Amino acid sequence: MEDYRGRMRDTRRRARRRRAIRNRIILTVLLLILVVAAVILGKKFLDGDFKKKENTTFPAGTTNQTETAGEPGESTPAESGGAPAADADSALSQAAALAASYDYDGAIALLKSVSGYESDSRITEVITGYEETKKSLVAADITQIPHVFFHSLIVDTAKAFGSEKSAAYNQVMTTVDEFDAIMQQMYEKGYVLVKIHDMASKQDGEMKKGTILLPPGKKPFVLSVDDVSYYEYMQGHGFANRIVIGEDGYPTCEMDMANGTVQTGAFDVVPRLEEFIKAHPDFSYKGARGIIALTGYDGILGYRTAPKYGDPSDDSYKAEYASINVESEREKAKSVAARMEELGWEFASHSWGHKDMGQAKIENMKTDMQKWLDQVNPLLGGDTDILIFPKGTDIGSWRGYDNNEKYDYLSSVGFDYYCNVDGNQPWVQCTSKYLRQGRINADGFEMYYHADKLSPFFDAASVFDKARPTPVKPMG
Ligand SMILES: [Zn+2]
Repeated sequence: MEDYRGRMRDTRRRARRRRAIRNRIILTVLLLILVVAAVILGKKFLDGDFKKKENTTFPAGTTNQTETAGEPGESTPAESGGAPAADADSALSQAAALAASYDYDGAIALLKSVSGYESDSRITEVITGYEETKKSLVAADITQIPHVFFHSLIVDTAKAFGSEKSAAYNQVMTTVDEFDAIMQQMYEKGYVLVKIHDMASKQDGEMKKGTILLPPGKKPFVLSVDDVSYYEYMQGHGFANRIVIGEDGYPTCEMDMANGTVQTGAFDVVPRLEEFIKAHPDFSYKGARGIIALTGYDGILGYRTAPKYGDPSDDSYKAEYASINVESEREKAKSVAARMEELGWEFASHSWGHKDMGQAKIENMKTDMQKWLDQVNPLLGGDTDILIFPKGTDIGSWRGYDNNEKYDYLSSVGFDYYCNVDGNQPWVQCTSKYLRQGRINADGFEMYYHADKLSPFFDAASVFDKARPTPVKPMG
């Protein structure tokens, strides 16, 4: 019985053990299944979640790519992303400056250079406006363009009219106050400064009339200033000493003041006209400035550039210049001239020794001009092609320069523009070889005796400086 019970117990024990083992296997299998299921589900979940994340970010990325794909290049999107607005703004203000000086084509070309300008209504509206203005422009009659000229301005009237040269200054000079009033009145009458090179220019060796397009009512004129040398004889007579370039990069003047100091300021035509144009950009056609006529015997622009200043054996100059360094004077003159040319000023020969070229024998005229070409021309940016005759003379009659030896010589050394003095009416002669233009003197003599001739430009009576001695003595 014990054995049986014992066997029976063993059998049950074995059976329990087998069940336990089977259960453990089942549990293990179930656990394995659960783990595998969990891994699969988990992976699925994670995959799904990851894809979802991708799905939320990817379209945004795609959009970005589409946006940048429209830009010209891989490296530009960042730049052009911010640049178009800045470009447009600066282009609009630059274009406005060009249009103010009647360069509508330049303004339109500049605006069209802005990438995507077609979709910027600010730009397209401005372009349309310029196109409309262009249709209203009138071509100037080149043969009717007047030329007004000045000399260096009298700053201190007491000194100038109290000097031994008072009579001469009273005749041919203009005071600072008169100049300012003249510019203002001419501006109000619609005058616009143009370059003589805008009137005509040489193309393939042939002089051809230019086209000057201005709004109706605007009147072109050329301006020149003679003898911008600040001659020795003018010293202490109330004029500037020289032209310098100011800290702002614009030409200004230095002048000896009554108290013995040297002051910098707008003491002559060049800086005063610059200031006037800055305030009234529509007074200058496409950046035009005046013509500066230079002799050579006392140097140019107030610099003692003539060789005599470096020659100890030469006693034809004031002792105070004995220690001057001519080379350094020449360098200074050169850099002032270069800056002026950059701003639109043009230079003319006024002969070397202020010679009457009409009366001079041709050999003397050639010798004098050669000195100018050797000493003055190299200080200027390019080869000078404008000749402003000294003393208001000319080398020929109104008929022209045919069979004229002096013209043949002057033409052979590069002169294509010839200016005399003719106060009666605008006078222009343009042939296939040269342009000649008469000039009117806006000075004391003309204001006092020929106010009527100046009346198209300004009212001489209201301009005439009360500091002038009257009557103005006629030129002898
Ligand atoms: Zn002169």
